[in-house]
Amino acid sequence: AGPPPLLELRELHVYYGVIEALKGVSLAVAEGEVVALLGANGAGKSTTLKAASGMLSPRTGEVWLRGERVDGIASHDLVRLGIGHVPEGRRVFPRMTVLENLRMGAYRLRRPDPADLERVFTLFPVLAARRKQVGGTLSGGEQQMLAIGRALMGKPELLLLDEPSMGLAPLIVQQIFEILREINAQGTTLLLVEQNASQALQLADRGYVLETGAVVMSDAAPALLSDPRVRAAYLGEV
Ligand code: ATP
Repeated sequence: AGPPPLLELRELHVYYGVIEALKGVSLAVAEGEVVALLGANGAGKSTTLKAASGMLSPRTGEVWLRGERVDGIASHDLVRLGIGHVPEGRRVFPRMTVLENLRMGAYRLRRPDPADLERVFTLFPVLAARRKQVGGTLSGGEQQMLAIGRALMGKPELLLLDEPSMGLAPLIVQQIFEILREINAQGTTLLLVEQNASQALQLADRGYVLETGAVVMSDAAPALLSDPRVRAAYLGEV
């Protein structure tokens, strides 16, 4: 057998009170891959990412990182182990400057690396130009870039992205996906939740489709892109 997957979720069951949001979700992400997680509103995509990053504890099931079991480890410690999470809605600190927001992404590291800041500013020149501006005054696209940049400051091997295209104009979405491709080419593995299935599958190597808390399909991205069920349900085609 080859190396273990970078991330493996095994039979996750997650509850909100009495609501079972994940009903036994299993998936794997190999090092270097881009994996897309698709599904309708409420299917459990965000919950899956939160369980992977330690923001939520599964009632049963396991999370494995590089062959080590990590469920039960708090999210801030998982940052140190290599998991970065770009949450839904970006959650930029509105009163902090761009630079302060970025530094927050590194504060869990024992040794913040100045090269990481350079990397973020090279990927997102607009953040360098606006480094002294407070987060709340950035455009939606710039806030999304800042949220991604902040996560990169934690030196993630695996970046979890929750709806990076949400609420953004098509041109900005295009830009952000090009930068995600570059981040992946630089060696960071991506697990991406998207409503924009077409964009996501063009970037991804593989994808999973979630319905009401369970994986109902998983395949190579081109196969999903041409699957009639996927096209009807997630690509707005009849
Ligand atoms: P969306 O794109 O709308 O965020 P999603 O696929 O990410 O959808 P989740 O947010 O993971 O879905 O939600 C899965 C299920 O859990 C839904 O039925 C949702 O209503 C429920 N849920 C999510 N968060 C909570 C919460 N904090 N309290 C109670 N129920 C929740």
